[in-house]
Amino acid sequence: MSQRIYLSSPHLGALERGYVNEAFASNWIAPLGPHVDAFQAEFARCVGAPHALALSSGTAALHLALQLVGVGPGDEVLVSTLTFSASVNPIRYLGARPVFLDSERTSWNMDPNLLSEELEARGWAGRLPRAVIVVHLYGQSANLDPILDVCDRYGVPVVEDAAEALGSTYKGRIPGTLGRVGIYSFNGNKIITTSGGGMLVSHDEVLVQHALKLSTQARDPAPHYQHSEIGYNYRLSNVLAAIGRGQLRVLEDRVAARRRNFAFYEQALAGVPGISFMPEAPWGRHTRWLTTLTIDAAEFGADREAVRLALERENIEARPVWKPMHLQPVFSCFERRGGHVAEELFENGLCLPSGSNLTQEELARVVEVVRAVPRRALRSVH
Ligand SMILES: *Cc1c(COP(=O)(O)O)cnc(C)c1O
Repeated sequence: MSQRIYLSSPHLGALERGYVNEAFASNWIAPLGPHVDAFQAEFARCVGAPHALALSSGTAALHLALQLVGVGPGDEVLVSTLTFSASVNPIRYLGARPVFLDSERTSWNMDPNLLSEELEARGWAGRLPRAVIVVHLYGQSANLDPILDVCDRYGVPVVEDAAEALGSTYKGRIPGTLGRVGIYSFNGNKIITTSGGGMLVSHDEVLVQHALKLSTQARDPAPHYQHSEIGYNYRLSNVLAAIGRGQLRVLEDRVAARRRNFAFYEQALAGVPGISFMPEAPWGRHTRWLTTLTIDAAEFGADREAVRLALERENIEARPVWKPMHLQPVFSCFERRGGHVAEELFENGLCLPSGSNLTQEELARVVEVVRAVPRRALRSVH
């Protein structure tokens, strides 16, 4: 069997090991230290946010973000339905209720018109949500301007889940830095990784200082251990921040490599009936963190699942597009708004291997298997 091709595997650069050795040599093996400070400063500069806080995961960052914009028990939070469960779980940690919004087709992200209608209806009814979480999926920004405008009009804070979108742009600006708080993830499969980790950014220094306090067990400034609120243990290790510093230096290379993967797939599968790639919206740069496409089974001659299984038989990892949150057993009791765009994308959508370390041969292997699926489906019918 040939070597397994993964969906998105870690890709280390030349500098990470040196920084990690430095952490060992200086004995800063703790959830604080000079690499954490430097990683925060370098990350803040990279995305153009005044304040950044390194945390143990993107999920932890979102949990703190929601708490700090005031989400609490019984509140409602509007959130994209087409996303990973980590966008929604922290709403439940806080005892609040998600309301799921459908996607638009230009970017696959939250439909601003739907959000606008929902906020208008809730404004009249006096039932505004405590926050809106907008997710930037698969390396592409949502259409932020209308989303920020309408939320501003109703005084609802926007939390940006940019876990998948580091390196993307929106009208020359950086998704994750445009709402009240933004979060990023450095999980092993993301565009850059610390093995596990996250970042919270905001223009609000007081909010970020409070997030720092909560992330370190909410210690009051006293020499004895004193606490006047409930805290968490959410800080990033100095060792992992060392990895992050090296990774951040090669972010632009990683974006370029993932966009090259996409261009290869797009060209190699051009003209194959029934295959459509996730569009790049006119408002910015899609990093193509994952190359994602939809398959029209009737035109292509086989459905999404047949393609995924054919790839799996060749030891190639591909994944369906995220299963919408309103279809998840754990969230099915919550309300949703909109049509069936997210459901359709899930039904027909597939993510191809997209790592920045894939070789030309590996990409060619993926394409060969995909192209052969309809012929094989035909043979099995006759
Ligand atoms: C990965 C991811 C997260 C969570 O990040 P972790 O660092 O894995 O906790 C949140 N939201 C989305 C959309 C993600 O893809």
